[in-house]
Amino acid sequence: MQVTSVRTMRVEGPDPGGIGGKARTYSFLLVRVDTDAGVHGIGEALDFPGVRPVLEAVGAWLVGRDPLRIGPIVRGMLYGALPAPGPAHAQSIMSATATVAGPPAWAAAGLEIALWDLAGKALGAPVHQLLGGAYRDRVRVYLDRSGVAEVTDLDAWARLGERAVAEGFDWLKLDLEQIAPDHQPDPWNRQIGTAAVAAIAERIGAVRDAIGPDIDLGLDGHMSHDVESAIRIGNALGDLGLRWYEDPVPITSLASLAQVRNAQPIAIAAGETFTAEQFRQAFEAEALDIAHPDVLFIGGLGEARRATTVADLWNAPVAFHDNGAAVATIATAHVAASIPNLLGMEYHFHDAPWVGALARRDVPLFRDGGVPLTEAPGLGLELDERVCRDHLAPGESWFGH
Ligand SMILES: [Mg+2]
Repeated sequence: MQVTSVRTMRVEGPDPGGIGGKARTYSFLLVRVDTDAGVHGIGEALDFPGVRPVLEAVGAWLVGRDPLRIGPIVRGMLYGALPAPGPAHAQSIMSATATVAGPPAWAAAGLEIALWDLAGKALGAPVHQLLGGAYRDRVRVYLDRSGVAEVTDLDAWARLGERAVAEGFDWLKLDLEQIAPDHQPDPWNRQIGTAAVAAIAERIGAVRDAIGPDIDLGLDGHMSHDVESAIRIGNALGDLGLRWYEDPVPITSLASLAQVRNAQPIAIAAGETFTAEQFRQAFEAEALDIAHPDVLFIGGLGEARRATTVADLWNAPVAFHDNGAAVATIATAHVAASIPNLLGMEYHFHDAPWVGALARRDVPLFRDGGVPLTEAPGLGLELDERVCRDHLAPGESWFGH
């Protein structure tokens, strides 16, 4: 079996939940790999600058090659061993410095997901089986609830939580900087005032009162604060039963993360941009309670699985970060099902049904607050052509047709 083409398609549309309850437009990059055997694979990459040119260059290199050699292809993209087509300077599109970040890693993830889907279809096995076998047939999901439009309206906070629970989810996450933006006199100095901390505690308290004590609630700090502020925040929220405090400070200093972890009561989650090696460093620095890897950032399912193994070595659980659409979410569920130390995975676009409808399966995207898995080959999905066409970004067509 040989690759005959690697193509991409950009889709976009409204995200009514957006940031802080305000609508935004969001886009996704879908990937399709075709072969001379008539089998194809579907993937999804972050639609970040530079991703598409890397996919085009690697796609051209991949034509005529064996799509089942997933490891060598991805490792070549991530660590610089993959020879690029064209003149020597074109090799800069690969990660020639072995820095697993930026467009090569983001592109590798989208391509790798498509190759796993293709491999599963070719071999007649679901991806979770190829990754070692599923520990569970449903992956629990936490909904990212960025915030509400009127932050002083405690009823709006209560309704935010009540609605998610009514729709079957038992795990939510709030974005810290969106909870009390009315109390941020200087967004640059990473400090937080006493009134802001009190407002945050009151508003998260309204959510907690509405959802009751048994619903898990996480908090994402988005690296917005300094150590001293993060410690005050953690201590002020200690009675609200928060499952975790994610990225309380910039994660470039693991020592700072460890300081926060040691001085307040909430478990620390981090790592949405970490490689397996960075997770090792974070655990060695005793900076982390919960590993938070992201398939689309780290270079795909295989690299994500490697990161979760690092967490397992430190007896730590994994909650996957996920900022992707239907394909990335289902792909993440496959790897999440195949690791023992799983807490669950994220979903951002519950207010934008078209995002989840970009792909179709025999089962719904969510059931009982989680992503159900099936025994269908590959990722067990196909793109919904009508939904994709309805959301083509300007200038786009159905994979070039
Ligand atoms: Mg985050």
